[in-house]
Amino acid sequence: MFAEPAVGTSVRLHGWVRRARSSGGLLFLVIRDRTGSVQVTAKRDVLGEEAFQKASQLQLEGSLELEGTVATDPRAPGGREVRATSIHVIDAGAPFPIFKDQTEEYRLDKRHLVIRSSEHVATFRVKAELLAAFRRFLAAEDVLEMTPSVLTGNAAEGGSEAFQFDYFGRPGYLSQTAQLYLEALLVPNERVYALTPSFRAEKSRTPRHLTEYLHLEVELAWCDLDSLLEFIERMIATSVAEVAQRCAPELKELGRAPEELTSLAPPFRRMPYSEALDRLKEKGFDVSWGSDLRTAEEAALTMEERAPIFVTHFPKELKAFYMLETPSDARTAEAADLLAPEGFGEIVGASCRETDIAKLTERLRANNVDPAEYEWYFEIRRHGNVPHAGFGLGVERVLRWMLRREHIRETTPFPRTPSRHTP
Ligand code: ATP
Ligand code: MG
Repeated sequence: MFAEPAVGTSVRLHGWVRRARSSGGLLFLVIRDRTGSVQVTAKRDVLGEEAFQKASQLQLEGSLELEGTVATDPRAPGGREVRATSIHVIDAGAPFPIFKDQTEEYRLDKRHLVIRSSEHVATFRVKAELLAAFRRFLAAEDVLEMTPSVLTGNAAEGGSEAFQFDYFGRPGYLSQTAQLYLEALLVPNERVYALTPSFRAEKSRTPRHLTEYLHLEVELAWCDLDSLLEFIERMIATSVAEVAQRCAPELKELGRAPEELTSLAPPFRRMPYSEALDRLKEKGFDVSWGSDLRTAEEAALTMEERAPIFVTHFPKELKAFYMLETPSDARTAEAADLLAPEGFGEIVGASCRETDIAKLTERLRANNVDPAEYEWYFEIRRHGNVPHAGFGLGVERVLRWMLRREHIRETTPFPRTPSRHTP
């Protein structure tokens, strides 16, 4: 805001009170708007008794308009302050109920107010820039944004983790992925993506699961696993570096050095699942072939990495029914998970898609899903099937890693978890 006008200039500001203190006939305020904050001093003999009294009633987060002159003050943040010539209180405000050392539960109950903190403002600015960077990258790659529905009659991927609701007397579900719709839209458009909320009714309370998260999903025609992984690493390195450049002050405020995020040069390391098991064995983890990697194991693989790594070719039973079987090894899927460094866990799930209807049917049956529900999906395969591949990226997972946040809920304004869907 407030940093720009030169000393001696008259300014007119509006904003909210971040700090207030009075001593005798002098009022010290720190005023915040979306561009930053500035110290304001107001004197009783300049404002007049009535206006000064009103201004003295301002609470934290009260709102006001003021006019004043920019002056130097070595004690003020930024070395400058505004000396008020008039203050118009818009809403003095009730006592603000948020202060230090309140419990996390209380802070979550008051989330609608807590999100005014400078930490949250910085976090959501980084998030907005990350979304903008992804969209710029995808547009430059000629990938078209699509808007598939999130209300659906298909439970997808098995249903156990789908939220079900009553859709005019029939079961409806909140979408867990837009992928199947993107595969339909892929045929006429070849390169498509969607940025929509996905919903997972997973009861697991982990620091990296939300029940609603923002899912960036991309489907590319004529694409194999190598090209897909190359696309993903370029998208992540480019977008994260752009955010680090545009949001350097926010990242510093949040305790992350921007330089660490501008130097994630591709290629990212690729490690087949079987090699990951060997490495884990060296580190004292005995994972048998066929078991999924747990959080501790993902952490052990990535603790010393600075950039994300791909773990490829998982046993196909661990992966979704639509993932292509590896042509040279029927036991594994032509798929990869991208794991964030330093133990932040999976941020992207990627695979080539199975195009053979018989194999899709067999995999659905193995997962106890009635293939009849997927008849519409099979029909896409009957008319102009092409090799294609795609991935899903959890936006909040990426942010959690970028900002090194302990819990994923800090990366979204109104977190949805098994124990909370308000405010
Ligand atoms: P995990 O094993 O960590 O639960 P997943 O294998 O279920 O992940 P996918 O179904 O592949 O994940 O979803 C694609 C991406 O969506 C994941 O790589 C992750 O970044 C993100 N994601 C998945 N589930 C969640 C969740 N509950 N909360 C936030 N992000 C999620
Ligand atoms: Mg999951």
